[in-house]
Amino acid sequence: MGYNCVVCVKQVPDTKRITGQAMKEDGTVNRAALPAVFNPEDLNALEAALRVRDEHGGTVTVITMGLPAACEVLRDALFRGADAVVLVTDRRAAASDTLATSYILSCAAKKLHPDLIFCGRQAIDGDTAQVGPQLAEKLGFTLITYLEDLKLDGRVATARRNVGNGYEVVRARLPALFTVVESANHPRPTAVKRAMKSKKARAPVEVAKAVDTELPSATPEAKAVETKKRCAELAARGLQIMQWNLDDLQADLSWCGGAGSPTKVHRIQSIVLAGGDYKEFPPTEDGVTRLLGELIEDHTIG
Ligand SMILES: Cc1cc2nc3c(=O)[nH]c(=O)nc-3n(C[C@H](O)[C@H](O)[C@H](O)COP(=O)(O)OP(=O)(O)OC[C@H]3O[C@@H](n4cnc5c(N)ncnc54)[C@H](O)[C@@H]3O)c2cc1C
Repeated sequence: MGYNCVVCVKQVPDTKRITGQAMKEDGTVNRAALPAVFNPEDLNALEAALRVRDEHGGTVTVITMGLPAACEVLRDALFRGADAVVLVTDRRAAASDTLATSYILSCAAKKLHPDLIFCGRQAIDGDTAQVGPQLAEKLGFTLITYLEDLKLDGRVATARRNVGNGYEVVRARLPALFTVVESANHPRPTAVKRAMKSKKARAPVEVAKAVDTELPSATPEAKAVETKKRCAELAARGLQIMQWNLDDLQADLSWCGGAGSPTKVHRIQSIVLAGGDYKEFPPTEDGVTRLLGELIEDHTIG
């Protein structure tokens, strides 16, 4: 039996390759100084879904909510083996916190009727690890976090969860949502054949931008006609990135963007750990006794 798998992926700033000041003076992220990449654990989530499809059949559809630039991660997902990709983009989604983001993603997921949804455990920029659990709650799906290994037998999933100091095996009925950790797998690299085939895949918003650049003096009507024609050509060749806005999702606007975001950021602090912030204890009986004493004293344990 084949499974309908959906993978949620996010484009994030690459914090490992900072090319200038990472933070602006107002404490917000200076995205211009940081190249954008596929959120690392979302690659593990994609790999987990691709393995389900390879073993049992079915499809893998990748969704991202973001600016048109996020099409880069969608093309990357196609190069790695995704069957279809969806860009959810809408100005009215700006300023969404995790609650609004998961609501919008839940509307998109409902359109796809998945058996399984895979998310990364955490995004390296927002870093909350909230979107996966919130999405499961909104869809009424069983939630399994910290996924390392998955076996499927009909509508029953058996999952190994990494619980930090060991693992736990749990069983659940589908539909289910999994948040996947880095230790789950080694994401497959992009396949050259797939990259050659899908490198021209474009979302309508990207096609419209190209038409705008190539035909600067055309009327808005002529540009719209040309955009529609090019999108139809791409669709005929299986190269169209699906694009949905909040109307396509029939989303309740009071749950989206700033209106649907109760989070208020009061202060952003840059914390630099100084060398003296850690202590070393020798791996001896005396060292372990001293370590335990300190941990009990500062109430970390006991
Ligand atoms: C008050 C406020 C305003 C904000 N305004 C904006 C804004 O205007 N523009 C903006 O870009 N961000 C904005 N953010 C950040 C935005 O809320 C988070 O980036 C987003 O909700 C995801 O949270 P996270 O990064 O902690 O992801 P996590 O919860 O750590 O992510 C876990 C997993 O969920 C999935 N996931 C997360 N985000 C997405 C996504 N967008 N698409 C698909 N899958 C996803 C991925 O699988 C990811 O690995 C704002 C945040 C706050 C608090």
